[in-house]
Amino acid sequence: MILIKDSTVVDGTGKPGERADILIKDDRISAIGKLGSQKTATVIEGRGLISVPGFIDVNTDSDHYLSLFTDRGQHDFLLQGVTTIFGGHCGSSLAPLLRGSLQSIRKWGDTGAVNVDWQLMDEFLATLDRLKIGVNFGTLVGHSTIRRALLGEDARDLTARDMEAFESLLKQALDHGGFGLSTGLAYNHSRHTPYLEIKALTDVVASRRGVYTTHLRSEAEHLLESVQETISIAKESKLPTIISHFRAIKGSEAQFEESVELIEAAAAEGVPIWFDAYPFDYSMLPVYMMLPDSIRVGSLEHMLAALSTSHGEGIVYESLPRLRVADLVIARAPGFDYLVGKTIGHFAESNELNLKQALLKLMKLTRLRAVLFYKNINFDITSKALLSERALVASNSPSLVEGRNVIENERAKNTFSRFLEIAAAQKKTIEWSVKKLTAVPAGVFNIPHRGLLKEGAIADIALLSSPVASSSRAYTGATHVLVGGKQVVADGAFADVYNGKILRRT
Ligand SMILES: [Zn+2]
Repeated sequence: MILIKDSTVVDGTGKPGERADILIKDDRISAIGKLGSQKTATVIEGRGLISVPGFIDVNTDSDHYLSLFTDRGQHDFLLQGVTTIFGGHCGSSLAPLLRGSLQSIRKWGDTGAVNVDWQLMDEFLATLDRLKIGVNFGTLVGHSTIRRALLGEDARDLTARDMEAFESLLKQALDHGGFGLSTGLAYNHSRHTPYLEIKALTDVVASRRGVYTTHLRSEAEHLLESVQETISIAKESKLPTIISHFRAIKGSEAQFEESVELIEAAAAEGVPIWFDAYPFDYSMLPVYMMLPDSIRVGSLEHMLAALSTSHGEGIVYESLPRLRVADLVIARAPGFDYLVGKTIGHFAESNELNLKQALLKLMKLTRLRAVLFYKNINFDITSKALLSERALVASNSPSLVEGRNVIENERAKNTFSRFLEIAAAQKKTIEWSVKKLTAVPAGVFNIPHRGLLKEGAIADIALLSSPVASSSRAYTGATHVLVGGKQVVADGAFADVYNGKILRRT
């Protein structure tokens, strides 16, 4: 038994916090109140701390970057008080894999690092059960993952027979525990996906009470259209629908603000539409996404071949946007680790190239597998959107072991703390913020017994230091964290305890 003594309990419902003790037996909360001393219990001194339900990060990249395998503790999340994460976003999940390969995540992860001993969703989830990770994890089913399982590199329309096969694979993956469907409509293998295909597939998900998440076809130039398309899907399918990593891309701020209004208006009419967002000004961008449409077709090898002709190179050179040096940092450069953390400007200078030439050289050197940090987000407008009732908070990042060949990703470490600061500065109560990070996402994803502190709930609990309203650095992360009744963070440090549950849709 564990007794959390005398903390302020903010339970996730939104009601005002109250000082109380929390008693935990096995994996559940057995009592909340003035409990006196409990002889057999391990005591966590909670005075001056706030107890909250463990935060739920609805959109992470820990599967895409394979960090579930390389950083089982997922400590970046735990140290912020996040106890549940979701993956399988942007059209790519680690299952089902009919061809036994991880093609659809090659743009992010080093797929050689993992022994793929699964094909179907249930086999994948069983592999994770055996692995034992630090946080609770659930996954969506990736649209591109299934499409590629069926069609390989072919990006054609589906035939009626393909569609039948697609639907039965999707149903199976959902019945094995997948939480819903994700699409990555900006990526090569999915950007020509017709509306009717998405509609048919979301109807399948709706029949099983899942969710639908989407990386929009366009996040900038055609943002409004893309948002309208997504609202239509949500309206027609009545499926909880989440626009992934929604952000005000510089230059498209007006469309973004109008989109938020559209989403709020649709929600007011009962359309179950949401978006997830993070309070940072950069995105991570696989370098090949900067190629023009005419070259950005098919596999990496195919694009690389096109890039290797002088004609193709000319087309790419002409199409590259005029770049601001500070805006691009090399986050990942397989085979060229010494470049990680450098700006394109630095790389250009040391190679005596102009910026466009330098980018082209990076593309070729890394065979299009480099990933860039791109400061292309309007921070103020995106942060404001995070306070919308339709916003969920998500890092869209992997937890990473220090020293890996990816530069430090502040999003995985600080998204939730920063959100709490921003909300407090805008006079939102801690109760309002905590509900948004816990009970609300638990409701959208239909996860039972989590997201609230109450008797009988699973003991996923974070203890935060008390906030000083309007101080810009009030939250530094979680002091103590429990996952499933076990203490996994003590005094701000990961305790090397792996008690996360692999979640399945119920
Ligand atoms: Zn995405």
